[in-house]
Amino acid sequence: MSDFQKDNVALMCDIGELVGLFDFDAGLDAFLSKAVSTVAWHMRAAVCSIYLFDPDTADLVLHANQGLNPAMIGRLRLKIGEGITGMALQEMRPICEARATDNPHFKYIPGSHEEKFISFLAVPIQRKMNPVGVITVQDPQWNYFNNNDIQALRVIASQLAGVIENAHLLVHIRDTAANQESVAQQPSATAARFGPGTHCIRGQWASGGMAMGLSTRIGHYLLRSAVEQTCPLDLTEADFDRAVAITERQLLDLQRRLEEKIQDAASMIFGAHVLMLKDEAFSGEIRNQIRAGKNPWTAILDEVRHYADMFSRSPNPALREKVLDVEDLGHRLLHNLSAPTLAGTGPDYTGQIILTEELLPSDILKLAAEGAAGLILLGGGQHSHVAILAKALQIPLVISTDLRLLQLPEQTPILLDAKEGQIVINPGPEAVQTMQELIRSLADSERLAAQARDETFTRDGTSIQLLANLNLVSELDVALRVKAQGIGLYRTEFPFIVRSTFPTEEEQYQGYKSVLDRMKGLPVLFRTLDVGGDKALSYYPVQHENNPFLGLRALRFSLRNPEIFKQQLRAMLRAADGAPNAKIMFPLVASLDEFLSARDLAETCARELKSEGIPHWMPELGLMIELPAAAMLAPELAAAADFLSIGSNDLIQYLLAVDRTNNEVAAWYSPHHPAVLRTLAQIVRAAVPTGKPISLCGNIATDPQMLPFLLGIGLRTFSMDPTAIPAVQQIISRIDISEAEQQAEKMLSFGRQEEVIRYLSTITS
Ligand code: PEP
Ligand code: MG
Repeated sequence: MSDFQKDNVALMCDIGELVGLFDFDAGLDAFLSKAVSTVAWHMRAAVCSIYLFDPDTADLVLHANQGLNPAMIGRLRLKIGEGITGMALQEMRPICEARATDNPHFKYIPGSHEEKFISFLAVPIQRKMNPVGVITVQDPQWNYFNNNDIQALRVIASQLAGVIENAHLLVHIRDTAANQESVAQQPSATAARFGPGTHCIRGQWASGGMAMGLSTRIGHYLLRSAVEQTCPLDLTEADFDRAVAITERQLLDLQRRLEEKIQDAASMIFGAHVLMLKDEAFSGEIRNQIRAGKNPWTAILDEVRHYADMFSRSPNPALREKVLDVEDLGHRLLHNLSAPTLAGTGPDYTGQIILTEELLPSDILKLAAEGAAGLILLGGGQHSHVAILAKALQIPLVISTDLRLLQLPEQTPILLDAKEGQIVINPGPEAVQTMQELIRSLADSERLAAQARDETFTRDGTSIQLLANLNLVSELDVALRVKAQGIGLYRTEFPFIVRSTFPTEEEQYQGYKSVLDRMKGLPVLFRTLDVGGDKALSYYPVQHENNPFLGLRALRFSLRNPEIFKQQLRAMLRAADGAPNAKIMFPLVASLDEFLSARDLAETCARELKSEGIPHWMPELGLMIELPAAAMLAPELAAAADFLSIGSNDLIQYLLAVDRTNNEVAAWYSPHHPAVLRTLAQIVRAAVPTGKPISLCGNIATDPQMLPFLLGIGLRTFSMDPTAIPAVQQIISRIDISEAEQQAEKMLSFGRQEEVIRYLSTITS
């Protein structure tokens, strides 16, 4: 049994590598053919096949195979629901049969030579909820495939889905290239507009920082400004070719800078751009139009608008998501065509305040790499993970619901104070001066960072541990600069989210090891994957959920997908070898049983690594208290785990039933609610007698009004956004523990939030 598991892990590494090396010019089928032989080899299966879904005929077509009659490739077509393979796609679930003929849907394909194969496993390949294809394995032995094989094939199917999607994009471009028609875009004018003069809008802060710049709307209207500009005359095909070459250089440079900046192997974030740019059907068609007498400017504009329109109308959501990419590409090409003197200087968004209705984690990464000064997002919540990512990348982000922002003319001057959630449109000279002073004082806070002390003490000399929350490895620099005493929460899902395929065990191991090395013996709490909720993996589809925050999130996702979980645990255990500062914690634990299952899996990984002769170490295992259920079970959980960490962001959300990403209900998301205060106190009281370390890593650890309460109930370790550490250090140095205890006692006596708030105002005023 362990041989298969071992092989499956190696299989996933190999497929991960294969995906990384995918060569579009060699073609998709060549890649799929390598993929089937890799899978068949590692699973020691006699047959492996990949079928792709053809959306025009709604058929599954055999594209690659090992072990069956090769003449079937390209010819064998199955309807959705036909045979076990068609059923797997119809029901979007793996089907594993010990004897394929026992399944009533089994269909023998004459001429395939499959009569000798008994065991059958079919796993759907899907992108989000869209059908992409099916991967199957067959073997002559009865009952040959087990649960581990199913999980391994699911991970592989998700890796393949990303590659196939990009290849389809290319095919889509090629197929429609001959069918050019320009469609005029109609900017909608439904929302009211701002009148002339200065306007001040109060949004929600979502990250810190301030920015001044000119507005740029991204999304469907990106090219409007280009339309409004006068088309430069006298441009030639040679100018276009030069613009293409410069654009390609810029994109590769951006990719490189992005990787340097976030150091989390953001695999080909600009992949779709480069792919389109190099494709003959796109650039070649523009060139043809230029040769037919069109001005290069108009030819680019027409082609880009054609694709943007086509993608935005596509029923395929994956293609709809490419609208931003194609418009961004158009923007770059036009810029490089019209401003040759600026050519090669790089990003278009330097000094721009980006306005957008939708922001994916990968968009933030792109915009950060492109030098955007600030972001305004229409919709979303300040505790969402997009906001956390903006903070990690230090881009000011304000969330607003004011739809008039969408009607702003391009390049309108804007001031953005993402600390206060303030947006100033067309600011007067005084506002600009005030902002300049604020930006200077922000620089002061950087000076404050330089003054950060090694240790933190309250006024009465009690030692307090301040650790940093880490989302991307790039934040380590800040954490070290502000002298964080360790990493109290490494949200390891972010390196997964910013990629387009699963990181391999080896990539994860290297990443974790580098964090441990750089923290030089200080504690590092690795939180295992917390995907689901508002953190989807674009390459790993899950069933549609009406309430994703109550769905397959965090530890539930990991326990449901043990192959993914094991890869991560193995990487962590390997990184912990020789690093006693490493600790692992599990997110969103709801019961003791869940914690014990996760611990069992970690122990299984340790045993497997041992039998494989791979160096590793079992670190301390802890858990996050983020659910009311976990709070109720705090005594048992504290007894079982090595340490606890309170995730107050989620604890508040679940205790009060307030979606942390929904701006509409933000007023109900309150740490001052008596139920929140009492729950926090109850957790700490349960943990302290066990002697197990307990910390808090939610946003309230940086709230000056909440800190005395948190110290007063007995917390001594906090983990937070590293930029907040110097200020929190100063606040704590003014707090006396016995006063804080009295204050906490008083706050716990109130039954109404209003009383808590009134009391706090008397203390702080
Ligand atoms: C929390 O819930 O408080 C927490 C720290 O985790 P996250 O914000 O990543 O959900
Ligand atoms: Mg959480």
